[in-house]
Amino acid sequence: MSRLAWTSRVFIIRARQMKPQNELLSGIGTTIFTVMSALASQHGAVNLGQGFPDYDGPADVIHAAAAALLDGRNQYPPMSGVPELRQAAAHHNKRFYGIEADPNAEVVVTSGATEAITACLMAVLNPGDECVLIEPLYDTYLPVVRLLGAIPKLVRLSPPEWALPRAELAAAFGPKTKALLLNTPMNPTGKVFTQDELSFIAGLLEQHDCYAICDEVYEHLTFDGAKHIPLMTLPGMRERCMRVGSAGKTFSLTGWKIGYITADRSIAPNVAKAHQNLTFTTAPNLQRGVAVGLMKDDAYFNGLSTHLQAKRDKLGSGLARLGFDVLPTKGSYFITTDFRPLGFNGDDVAFCQTLTEEAKVTAIPVTAFYATEDAPSHYARFAFCKGDAVIEEALTRMEAWLVKRRG
Ligand code: PMP
Ligand code: GLN
Repeated sequence: MSRLAWTSRVFIIRARQMKPQNELLSGIGTTIFTVMSALASQHGAVNLGQGFPDYDGPADVIHAAAAALLDGRNQYPPMSGVPELRQAAAHHNKRFYGIEADPNAEVVVTSGATEAITACLMAVLNPGDECVLIEPLYDTYLPVVRLLGAIPKLVRLSPPEWALPRAELAAAFGPKTKALLLNTPMNPTGKVFTQDELSFIAGLLEQHDCYAICDEVYEHLTFDGAKHIPLMTLPGMRERCMRVGSAGKTFSLTGWKIGYITADRSIAPNVAKAHQNLTFTTAPNLQRGVAVGLMKDDAYFNGLSTHLQAKRDKLGSGLARLGFDVLPTKGSYFITTDFRPLGFNGDDVAFCQTLTEEAKVTAIPVTAFYATEDAPSHYARFAFCKGDAVIEEALTRMEAWLVKRRG
């Protein structure tokens, strides 16, 4: 028997003797963002898949974090976040949205919005509670809701308008509904929920006495004058909403993983206890850098969306020129495209794989944002938070690929 066969036999015997691990985690794959980034680097592709800027965040924020490493405050910071960042987050709430929040009782800092969303779900859901989710949805929502033993109730937006199906949303609420998870501006659709849609949602939350987890990581990335409205600002919503922001998006520093939650003093303690059991605290120097960032002047925040809007237009018009049907994007880092007009025969996974391997450009298949197999499978998501030369290179490569395919 060869050594390999022997080793694998031992492995199989061991695996047989062991009890099954967590079924839910064993049943899901590695996140599509990691999978597609690995495929991009394997093929030397321009990566317009995973949503991270290829440029650095503001120098003053980075310098503040670097300086903070050197002044001897490197032990566990306060569990809910360093005072500077809690104060800056409270100030930011008031400055942009008129939300009054007590920095000592209503702000919790986490290791990214990913942890923040998990902590908020943990704070309110008991096993058996129902949680309303809106598809297409970010890939951590569903596994976390299920891991908590809660029951997801999915409501689907339909392209190209991604309008809110009000009757279906209302029907998803019932006596067991505990919470709704709302993402606006929305990944991957680029939808920014309107005041009217938010009012309808607020009515349902009041009617059914529910909480809302508000994933607002793209709050400052809106285009064409579209205004981000936190659900928390609507009448009756201040006590029901947990509002989540991310320094990754607001300061183009996705690797830092700093998130901040604003929640009423009646909910924040449970959110903090969830955080206490997930990570307990978050790197203090990065928190202090982000505190500097949240206090930056209006020119910074306005410049962020102007800068990204130009990138959206560059990529969007380029993709349209190549023959993609480009769906409108009012916010976020992403453009959704229908690739059927290109004449590609295959689903979105095949398209994104072929595009990576042959055109050397990577996008994300939009079915990754759906829970079930019946999702629309002719959409690919492209990230435009990239240098202009990178966007141009991606378009040039796709054009050459299309010419070759057609030739
Ligand atoms: N929510 C949405 C909608 C996202 O696109 C992302 C990805 N960055 C996150 C949450 C996670 O944010 P963070 O990197 O701060 O954990
Ligand atoms: N939010 C990013 C995206 O949608 C990816 C974050 C991640 O890789 N987890 O592309």
